[in-house]
Amino acid sequence: MNTVTKRTVTFSGRGIGRGSAVGKLNFYRRADRQASAAMRRSRGAAEETEQLRTAIRQASDQLDELYSRTLRDAGEEEAKIFEIHRMLLDDEDFFETAQSLILDGFSAAYSVSEAAERYSSVLASIDDEYLSARAADLRDVASRVAGILSGEQQKNGVGELDGDEKYIIAADDLTPSETVQLDREKILGFVTFAGSPNSHTAILARALGIPALIGTGEMDGEYHGRQAIIDADSGLLYVDPDDELLARYAKIEKAAKDGERALQHLRGKKSRTKGGREIHVYANIGSSDEAATALKHDAEGIGLLRSEFLYLKQDHCPDENQLFTAYRDTVTTMKGRQVIIRTLDIGADKKVAYFDQADEENPAMGLRGVRLTLSRRDLFRTQLRAICRASAYGKVSVMIPMVALPDEVAECRKLLREVQNELAREGVKFDPSMQFGIMIETPSAVIMSRELAGMVDFFSVGTNDLAQYALAADRQNHAVAELCDRGREPVLRMIALAAKSAHEAGIWIGICGELAADLTLTQRLIDIGVDELSVSPPYVLPLRGKIIECN
Ligand code: PEP
Ligand code: MG
Repeated sequence: MNTVTKRTVTFSGRGIGRGSAVGKLNFYRRADRQASAAMRRSRGAAEETEQLRTAIRQASDQLDELYSRTLRDAGEEEAKIFEIHRMLLDDEDFFETAQSLILDGFSAAYSVSEAAERYSSVLASIDDEYLSARAADLRDVASRVAGILSGEQQKNGVGELDGDEKYIIAADDLTPSETVQLDREKILGFVTFAGSPNSHTAILARALGIPALIGTGEMDGEYHGRQAIIDADSGLLYVDPDDELLARYAKIEKAAKDGERALQHLRGKKSRTKGGREIHVYANIGSSDEAATALKHDAEGIGLLRSEFLYLKQDHCPDENQLFTAYRDTVTTMKGRQVIIRTLDIGADKKVAYFDQADEENPAMGLRGVRLTLSRRDLFRTQLRAICRASAYGKVSVMIPMVALPDEVAECRKLLREVQNELAREGVKFDPSMQFGIMIETPSAVIMSRELAGMVDFFSVGTNDLAQYALAADRQNHAVAELCDRGREPVLRMIALAAKSAHEAGIWIGICGELAADLTLTQRLIDIGVDELSVSPPYVLPLRGKIIECN
């Protein structure tokens, strides 16, 4: 037997879901139903057409069953995909394309796969994440029908490993029905070489709360059966981890499990320090759907709704009603808890093609956040109208990103007043006492915080940007990432300065940057005087647990 020195191979990708897991890699093997010569042989057009109809009926029954099972196990949102599959299956154009291939002399199995291939390449080429994700759905449906036609059952296609073992699935990409049919009891996580964050694999990973990594690039099949660590938090997969890594992750995993169990009793409780100070623990979200997750993790409110994600998801600007519906849904989901909607923070790394922004030498310091919205008042007004309208349905606050100077705030307040007057004239309901706040994420805003505090109802510190501007260290650049870790002290002192200004003016201050979730800093942040901390939903209870241990 060869003795090979163990060397860890690391893959990186986009981490989805949460946490980490250690297990064996199990490569998902999909039968290549599309190219086999046997599938091409026709038994005559009439018979093949009849077989196609029968297979479609059977596939429909399977999808109904999958819908019910997923509805029971994962919920309506996740089950919806099988409804979409049913619709794709019922599509007349799709059926006719397959039938014309049958008339050209091909088998039903080949024809249905080829028809799907033609439609899905069109879908995949569309520059729209939602539609291109449907290409995978169409292939999935066709693969189901072709499988029935060629006598194969759709089955769990993972490679054989020890019966009782749990594993990390590795695949080029997983279709929704493949994901759902995997035996979840045995799955610790999954890695897909391709895949998009909008794919159903990603959606399910989040819903199931398991770690997943997408877009790692091709992985060699020789890794099948090898031990691996998947870490969704850092977006890394280690194959053949060394002992030190294993020891580190064993600790992380144990702590995570113990911690989660121990935290459940904190649900519904206040986040109060031993000294009796109450800190509000809110959640950061990027879409109205995530409000439910925030609530599930017992967030006391939404400290940051990154409203730009709605703009980034589509290829045209959302109109007032679309924005209003998304905000109203968030607000109603949160059942009276505060929802802070940040106005559009497009620019820097978040660009949308339809804004036609000029290329910038240094986009992080360019036309982003409030600078952009003040230069595109049509967009800004539309968004402010939608936010004001949503304020009639709950406790909404509006927050302006990337403020550098007081005149920007004065201008935003003026616009907001104009919008509110306009709505009043139109007889549209809104909450006139809606809080108005700003992000503190530029050194200038810190220095000017005394003046700014007199103009607003609250501050929320964006430490991700504040650190990059304070330390002159690009937050996207790996090479200087470590500088931000070493450079916490200047950032903390800046927060202290802003907190002093806020409290002297009688307003509250929170933090919605990632620093808020760093539990090693919680005591320091409390000492500084922050009133609210807003973190990703899964961090809400751990943070509450930390706060109650603080003085
Ligand atoms: C921040 O800068 O800390 C922040 C919360 O905003 P974003 O990460 O969206 O820039
Ligand atoms: Mg920011």
